[in-house]
Amino acid sequence: TTHTAIMARALEIPAIVGIDSIMDLIAEETPLIIDGEAGVVITNPKAADIKKYQTLRRKEQHLRKVLLKDVKLPSATKDDFPLRLVANMELIEEIPTIKAYGAEGIGLYRSETLYLRQQRFPSEQEQFQNYKKILSKMRPHQVTIRTLDIGAEKSLTSTPYTDGANPALGLRSIRYCLHEKEVFTDQIRALLRASPYGHLKIMFPMITTLDEIRESKEIVAEIRAELLKKKVRVADSIEIGAMVETPAAAILADVFAAEVDFLSIGTNDLVQYTLAVDRANDQVADLYDPYHPSILRLLKQIVDAAKSRNVEVSLCGELAGEANFFPFLLGLGLNELSMNPLSIPQVKRKLRELTFRKANDLVEQALQCKTGTEVKSLFNKFK
Ligand code: PEP
Ligand code: MG
Repeated sequence: TTHTAIMARALEIPAIVGIDSIMDLIAEETPLIIDGEAGVVITNPKAADIKKYQTLRRKEQHLRKVLLKDVKLPSATKDDFPLRLVANMELIEEIPTIKAYGAEGIGLYRSETLYLRQQRFPSEQEQFQNYKKILSKMRPHQVTIRTLDIGAEKSLTSTPYTDGANPALGLRSIRYCLHEKEVFTDQIRALLRASPYGHLKIMFPMITTLDEIRESKEIVAEIRAELLKKKVRVADSIEIGAMVETPAAAILADVFAAEVDFLSIGTNDLVQYTLAVDRANDQVADLYDPYHPSILRLLKQIVDAAKSRNVEVSLCGELAGEANFFPFLLGLGLNELSMNPLSIPQVKRKLRELTFRKANDLVEQALQCKTGTEVKSLFNKFK
């Protein structure tokens, strides 16, 4: 779930992370096979390896073609439980792929990629042009744009705040935006100006307190009033949501849900903060376990809290595209799953083969498990 891996997935580049000193071990121009699925690198492959992987690649390409035939079919279970399948987007260049894979919108646009790409803060006008382009191209589908989430492993060299012993617990994300108001207001102004060009939803990351939601919403309301006064067009209704990616937000999900239009669960961070395991540290990668029963219980609690407030709930962490986890997520009753666009066709096929009832039974069983291993084996056995 590191940003590097997420970017590689977005660009459809096979990748493996966490191999120590690989650049010292392999000379330039060495032929390689990279099996991202199995996590294997073969240097100087033999003819038999090349043949084996060429066959594998052909099979994969064929499977993708078969799955793409279903992209226009309804996104619902056999017993008609609907689930919106939308895409996570890092780069605007992904839009043609997002459409080709049948996404019904964008559930997470990581707006910081615009900043990270240039290693500087883009102007309000640059941001406006970027958001306008995305909204127009995706119209009439919804586009959820997340406000700047820099800090920790997504750091900008031009900000002085990303250091400290624990950057993941520091002045990152919404905390940074509420501290550096000008950066935030530039972005909100650009978003509101772009809002008439499509279906915009705005989402705030790394929320831990109700005050952060209230203050952010107030800023949006102030900027809306300021723009309207200047006769600048702003869409009448823009849904505003909060990400649930800290244990604090998960525990208080009912309280937060009462003040927003939707919640979106960011499991990449929720797992990191709940299990106290750095998502970018390969030394503890074995402890980074989304199957941990505490995560399952939190997910259930968040979805139930959103439902009790009649608020839509989405999940946009990498877990959304994991085939093994999918029946559990379906059974929770989420309204939307937002994932790497490549995963959408296979998740859709699975969705159309399942019944909500069966998936819901799985949730009940999974919540009884005591260890991650038990959960994994239950999910593996599920047919
Ligand atoms: C998450 O934390 O699950 C998430 C979607 O946000 P990011 O990966 O950008 O931190
Ligand atoms: Mg996150």
